Amino acid sequence: MTDIKELQSIAKDFIDKRDWRQFQTLKDLAMNSSIESNELMEIFLWHDKNFEENIISGNDKETLNKIKNEISDILFSCLAIADHLNFDISEAYKNKMSELEKRYDVNKVKGKLIKIPSPDHKK
Ligand SMILES: [Mg+2]
Repeated sequence: MTDIKELQSIAKDFIDKRDWRQFQTLKDLAMNSSIESNELMEIFLWHDKNFEENIISGNDKETLNKIKNEISDILFSCLAIADHLNFDISEAYKNKMSELEKRYDVNKVKGKLIKIPSPDHKK
């Protein structure tokens, strides 16, 4: 099993070997994460109800591989942003999940489809 620090190191090495850090602004990396997310969404666009079931059941390995590739593209952008800003993405993730545990109190939301706005998005 690979830990997130190893993945972050792989992304950093990939960037450094190509001397691409000079071209990778935070804005571009953030935009790239969104573009890659849209590529992931595009996989699911305009299919009938059986599409997801075929992926889940293992009958559509080609689409599963496309999904894996797009998720890896998204992860690369996230790891590159964390590297540029020199923060531990595993610590950031744990903090975020802790916040979500509080916001979505299991005693209040279990089995319910509820959207609770993030404090980051309240104005
Ligand atoms: Mg992609």
